Amino acid sequence: MVSNSQSAALIELRRVGKTYRGGTNALENVDTRIEQGSFVSLVGPSGCGKSTLLRIVAGLIAPSSGEIAWPATGGARPADIGFVFQDATLMPWARVFDNIYLPLKLRNVSRKDATPRIMDALKRVGLEDFAQSFPRELSGGMRMRVSIARALVTRPPVLLMDEPFAALDEFTREKLDDDLLELWRGENWTVVFVTHSVYESVYLSERVLVMGARPGRILHDIAIDAPYPRGRAFRESHDYVTRCAEISAALREGAVA
Ligand code: ADP
Repeated sequence: MVSNSQSAALIELRRVGKTYRGGTNALENVDTRIEQGSFVSLVGPSGCGKSTLLRIVAGLIAPSSGEIAWPATGGARPADIGFVFQDATLMPWARVFDNIYLPLKLRNVSRKDATPRIMDALKRVGLEDFAQSFPRELSGGMRMRVSIARALVTRPPVLLMDEPFAALDEFTREKLDDDLLELWRGENWTVVFVTHSVYESVYLSERVLVMGARPGRILHDIAIDAPYPRGRAFRESHDYVTRCAEISAALREGAVA
């Protein structure tokens, strides 16, 4: 098992709140620590602030109150944070290679120096033969893999994923879940994964944070201590079903509260 529960917190949210202009109280008093190397999912009803929390962690928006700290890196947010969204957000006019080159190009890395890194990222998501394809020539699942390769190419220590597989069919989604776990176990990544799916959260994570709305906050912090690798046997186990039921109940409780 790749649990790093003994290591220092990478991300620490201290009483984080966010009120948008217009007055929406999207988050209130969010307190949590995310360990380096861990896999944490956020689940909760629409509008409970999952994306807002992810964007605060990414540094794309600032909290209105409280603070976010990075103890494991001496306080500074890592320079590279990978962010994967629900839609693959690829440039349709550019080949797969150039889509993945973009974050390196923005860092002034030459095409020649970038090439082995791009090919390595493509290999890691199983698309090394598609560097010269255009996004329209790929399936939805393949486009999502390209998007993941683009997030990986800078070798970020943190990967933030906002419902990355929600638009895909179940079969493709399960395959990408497995591939993601394989990648995570091979790197020293910290993954924060937003999903609507209780099943997906339990399958993937070491911890599931169940959020409630109005104001958005963390209601439950549930450890999923089943060993990795987690394959079909885990998906079909009594243990898995029980854990999914537990999280569904926590979600319902949040919806009622
Ligand atoms: P979730 O990801 O859980 O669906 P969000 O973080 O997207 O939730 O949104 C939380 C709340 O904040 C919602 O009520 C949403 O309408 C509001 N919100 C999100 N982004 C903005 C924004 N840029 N400006 C104003 N309100 C926003």
